[in-house]
Amino acid sequence: MNLSTSDQILACARAAQAAWAAIPVSRRCAILGDLRREIALQCESIADTIARETSKPLLDALSGDVLVTLEHLRYYESYAARILRSRQIGKPSFFFRGARFEKSFEPHGVALIFGPSNYPFQLTVIPLITALAAGNAVILKCSERTPETAALIAKLCARANLPPNLVQVLHDGPEQSVALIDARPDFIFFTGSSRHGQQVAQRAAKQLIPMILELGGKDASLVFADCHLDRAIEGICYGAFSNAGRVCIAVKRAYIEASIYDDFLARLKQRIMKLRVDTDTGADFCPLSKNSQSDPRAQVEDALSRGATLRWPHDRAAVAYQPTLLSDVPSDARILTEESFGPVLCVASFRDEAEAIALANASHFGLSSSIWTHSQARARRIAAQLSAGSCSVNDVIRAIANPHAPFGGNRLSGYGRYHGPEGLLSFSRVRTIMLTSDRRTREINWFPFNGRTRGQLASLIRFRHATTGLVGRLSRILMPLLLSTILPMAFAAQSKPQAHLSIDVHLTPHARGELAYLIFASSSGFPGEREKALRQGFLPIPTNAQNLRIDADLPPGTYAVSVYEDINSNHKLDHNLIGIPREPVGVSNNPPARFGPPHFDQCSFHLGETSKIITITLVRAS
Ligand code: NAD
Repeated sequence: MNLSTSDQILACARAAQAAWAAIPVSRRCAILGDLRREIALQCESIADTIARETSKPLLDALSGDVLVTLEHLRYYESYAARILRSRQIGKPSFFFRGARFEKSFEPHGVALIFGPSNYPFQLTVIPLITALAAGNAVILKCSERTPETAALIAKLCARANLPPNLVQVLHDGPEQSVALIDARPDFIFFTGSSRHGQQVAQRAAKQLIPMILELGGKDASLVFADCHLDRAIEGICYGAFSNAGRVCIAVKRAYIEASIYDDFLARLKQRIMKLRVDTDTGADFCPLSKNSQSDPRAQVEDALSRGATLRWPHDRAAVAYQPTLLSDVPSDARILTEESFGPVLCVASFRDEAEAIALANASHFGLSSSIWTHSQARARRIAAQLSAGSCSVNDVIRAIANPHAPFGGNRLSGYGRYHGPEGLLSFSRVRTIMLTSDRRTREINWFPFNGRTRGQLASLIRFRHATTGLVGRLSRILMPLLLSTILPMAFAAQSKPQAHLSIDVHLTPHARGELAYLIFASSSGFPGEREKALRQGFLPIPTNAQNLRIDADLPPGTYAVSVYEDINSNHKLDHNLIGIPREPVGVSNNPPARFGPPHFDQCSFHLGETSKIITITLVRAS
């Protein structure tokens, strides 16, 4: 496929998507209901096609591919409209008085979905319907190894009367399909090996296309001595060898508590030996063909050459075609460090919980995991410490079939989640809307900036965020009260006209240190109580300065100002033994010096709505 072909595919998808996105979610899902009924009616012939094409048992195709897909379709029919509904969201009322926030979901646009070969129906149709429910158009790139299933999916979409070009199904090889990424779809969903996922992610990153990666795994299963042993053996046998181990969440590593290790290993081997192995799709296990893409023989040979023990099969030529059981595998063997996609299970023992967790986490993959124990408390404790996207307790694989449960991996197993609400939201973009009324002229953080609102905002911030314990709890309770008193005052101050006051201070000869200033709006605290001043501060006195100007924006009113040279920069006015200031002082109106501090009335002046300049001359009192 060249770029112009992929451009055409993209253009057709875009045209179909616009109309599809305009349909309400509930209606879209009702249309998908037709697809569900069509699949259900044809379930056996669909399973037959999949089983033949992928050499898997029929029952596996029916449950693992068809049933799981149908349950997901039903899930969207029931829940998608609710999940994608627009809704009001919270806000810190402190900063957003009177505002309302809403979030809504919109489709990405055109989703490019890469499907794998092992579950060619489930792992393409579930992302497909998720994308459609969210309002996207889809280019479905099925595996080049499953063209029959791809044709079947295309036919089912046509029978379900999906709009033309809404879903375009392809099964080109990787080389050709690279052009689809370069044609810039709006979203990519990739299921496949970690190596290919990395290649696709690199390509998509050039265009910053958002994506989800569902990649390979190396799942660990931890078996504790208190478990239901027969169930654990049955479960691990199924988890390791279902679909000939070609399951992303297959059990690849089983760690067994040391006290039951020998017994477990012997019984597991007995169980494996009883599997009905046949090329017939009615068997338990259909062997991989000798030219299978996912042949892990070389990895098994590598492990054996490093000292691993082959427990089953006895015939070394049958290794990896038949269910294969290895023990004593060194941790650096390729079968443990690389992705392997075939019927090979490695078994080892552990002494305690800590070692079990360490062994399970000693992998670069992190898709799923399982724990076998009678103790649910222990299971929860351990599950919380496993670095895998999911964990099943006393079960394997089945959890992926729950449409309510988010699914996905960590680390080399990929990123992002699908299934459940998270899955639907992954195929959507979130849009946030803030609605504010236009009753006020300005907001507290808008221009003009002034010291009073800045001070009130700082007090509110400290009250809300710097208090702890009882005061902290009280602050939250009192916040509504504050919001209805302080903030309106702050807003009022903000919206009142502000006048500019300039205070020109004549310094003493050779003045040094800092110039302290205090502005009072009443007699309370005048002239020296800093905490009662409306404004106060310190300005450094430059060398050889003779004058210094102080600027302030204030609402119209009556004020008095006091200033002093803080020679030693100790941020207080120093006095001698009889209370006379030792540092040069001055006040507004420059009244004649007298014994004791000046009165507010002597020093006050009126500031109107226009700017004003006053002058203060500093004098030495002692
Ligand atoms: P694969 O990586 O060979 O192919 C997956 C898809 O990607 C195919 O459609 C293929 O054509 C395409 N592709 C491959 N390389 C590409 C490239 N460079 N550029 C563009 N497209 C490319 O995987 P597979 O063998 O079909 O499937 C098995 C793999 O998928 C295993 O590794 C398995 O663990 C993984 N898998 C993961 C999940 C999961 O949900 N995490 C599920 C199933 C399978």
